[in-house]
Amino acid sequence: MTDLHAFIAGLPKAELHVHHVGSASPRIVSELAARHHDSKVPSDPEALVDFFTFTDFAHFIDVYLSVVDLIRAPEDVRLLTYEVARDMARQQIRYAELTITPFSSTRRGIDEGAFMDAIEDARIAAEADFGTILRWCFDIPGEAGLESAEETVRLATTDKLRPEGLVSFGLGGPEIGVPRPQFKPYFDRAIAAGLHSVPHAGETTGPETVWDALTDLRAERIGHGTSSARDPKLLAHLAEHRIPLEVCPTSNIATRAVRTLDEHPMKTFVEAGVVVTVNSDDPPMFGTDLNNEYAVAARLLGLDERGLAELAKNAVDVSFLDAPGKAALAAEIDTYTAGWLAP
Ligand SMILES: [Zn+2]
Repeated sequence: MTDLHAFIAGLPKAELHVHHVGSASPRIVSELAARHHDSKVPSDPEALVDFFTFTDFAHFIDVYLSVVDLIRAPEDVRLLTYEVARDMARQQIRYAELTITPFSSTRRGIDEGAFMDAIEDARIAAEADFGTILRWCFDIPGEAGLESAEETVRLATTDKLRPEGLVSFGLGGPEIGVPRPQFKPYFDRAIAAGLHSVPHAGETTGPETVWDALTDLRAERIGHGTSSARDPKLLAHLAEHRIPLEVCPTSNIATRAVRTLDEHPMKTFVEAGVVVTVNSDDPPMFGTDLNNEYAVAARLLGLDERGLAELAKNAVDVSFLDAPGKAALAAEIDTYTAGWLAP
């Protein structure tokens, strides 16, 4: 396995399901906390390690909200985004679709135009400095209701605001008590404006939520989709229509969507012919990173280097990167793998 870990560490990768604030590592949180001394978040890196050691899911939410509270000005947004890209580049992540919840920031009074400028400035600088291409998914925080849906779709579709890197429209937050169909009009508007539909569904609720996401929100990929494993008809549908699942194994354990990694349905998906991509969701908050998620996938799916390279190419293939970008990244994966396996 040591060799496989080294292979994964150097493997060029794409990540399709990872959250902006949820990617704030202790290093980044420390920098943000140092700028806002009145925050309850420690700025000392050692104290932060304790702060990030989760006792339970309620503690995770607590930490997440404390980090949200550190994003107060456009400069905080820029710093977070740029530094997240630096952490990605260290893992050889060449392309990432970062899920951003602009409502959390505009509600706090950050100017919407300045917010868009901050993420775009960070995106362009990150690509130049680290070689990591970033694209955005703007998601509705489901728990904040239809007001947040209206605000998110307005920010995503208003010509003078819509950032160049925006490719998709999502829906996050709790699923229980937040039915997907009520968001149909907002997804209709986002899709009409040329955005791809990538809602979370079936993480903490049953397969019917995934059906709702497909039927009402016209999902092109499903965030998590964990409970799809319980519905053979749904699995057949996902396979037939090549609708990929964005699987985040460690996150599923942390949120108790799945009890143990050994019970994770990833293999069921693959055996049913569903396209699976592996992702990290909120990596520092779940004590993981994308490399670790690939190692988990290797174990659960019994993959060798070639299998891992195919998994990485799945993500490239079903990403919203343009065709030349996809071809270049797929070729880079092939060259790396061939070089690794060469005698
Ligand atoms: Zn997520």
